[in-house]
Amino acid sequence: MKTEQELNKEILQTTLDIQENHPELLPFVDEMTPSTPSDENPAIENSNLAAFNDSLHSMVDQYTKHAKKHIIIIGAGFAGLKLARELNNHPNYTITLIDKNNYHQFQPLFYQVAMAQLDASNISFPLRSIFQKSKNLSIRVATVTNVNTVNNTVAIGVLSFNYDYLVIATGAVTNYFGNEAIASHSFSMKSTFDALEIRNSLLQHFEDAITHQHASTKRNLSIVIVGGGPTGVELSGTLAEMKTDSLPLEYPELNFAQMDIFLLEGSPKLLAAMRPASSSTAKTYLEDLG
Ligand SMILES: Cc1cc2nc3c(=O)[nH]c(=O)nc-3n(C[C@H](O)[C@H](O)[C@H](O)COP(=O)(O)OP(=O)(O)OC[C@H]3O[C@@H](n4cnc5c(N)ncnc54)[C@H](O)[C@@H]3O)c2cc1C
Repeated sequence: MKTEQELNKEILQTTLDIQENHPELLPFVDEMTPSTPSDENPAIENSNLAAFNDSLHSMVDQYTKHAKKHIIIIGAGFAGLKLARELNNHPNYTITLIDKNNYHQFQPLFYQVAMAQLDASNISFPLRSIFQKSKNLSIRVATVTNVNTVNNTVAIGVLSFNYDYLVIATGAVTNYFGNEAIASHSFSMKSTFDALEIRNSLLQHFEDAITHQHASTKRNLSIVIVGGGPTGVELSGTLAEMKTDSLPLEYPELNFAQMDIFLLEGSPKLLAAMRPASSSTAKTYLEDLG
């Protein structure tokens, strides 16, 4: 049995919670307030307080249960994850966060994974760990296959989920600007998996160059990067540094003077979206690296 002090503390806490989150319930709280002490009964009995406390809890529980809206967020990338964090433990919403991976991937460092400078685990953050203490968010690891905006449902294969609000934060795919040749002959870099594929291919080509030390060495070592935006510039700069720093140490059998790094850009300058000064600095810097 709770003491009078404990009950009063709980009642105060619940009332403050109602004031803050559900002020529309306050008139009902007033009606429910237990009788005040009288001459015959100077103290409000504990049982009265306990009943009042139970009623308050029950009212808030019932109300929030029925008032809660269900939000489905598709995609736990930068946008989806940020929103899910904002709504985490929000009293008015239940959240279902759906992603095809069970981890958030930090895309700005894909290039480091691709260049074997970071492990995939360094840039992958398991969603279930991030939200393990959440009271209102559940995670589904699956690829969303259909959205029905008439019935407000999201389909994952044969399963269907109802939503009150839907947020689609599924990111972007690589834009090849209609160039089929590039699309079919290159690696994209839009996921940790893609970055690992690039890394494995790169390392395998170095091994092949050692095994077959003949005319194909230059071909095995040389790399073409398409796109002179931030990622292409970062990638080619890192490769150029590796060419002189780490690769000759790790592959002493190979002559990295034979390694050519081509950075192809369709527009007249690198980093076209940035200031002209950044564009020319990047070009000079990369050319100096060799
Ligand atoms: C290599 C690279 C480097 C970058 N560097 C920078 C940088 O330095 N600074 C910067 O500000 N920005 C950078 N960006 C851009 C930045 O990463 C994106 O702008 C940002 O990730 C977009 O966020 P988003 O939430 O819209 O999509 P994303 O972060 O791409 O997230 C989309 C999520 O949706 C999931 N998903 C997609 N389809 C489905 C489906 N059908 N069902 C379930 N889940 C699905 C994906 O698995 C993914 O988790 C970089 C991008 C790349 C590719």
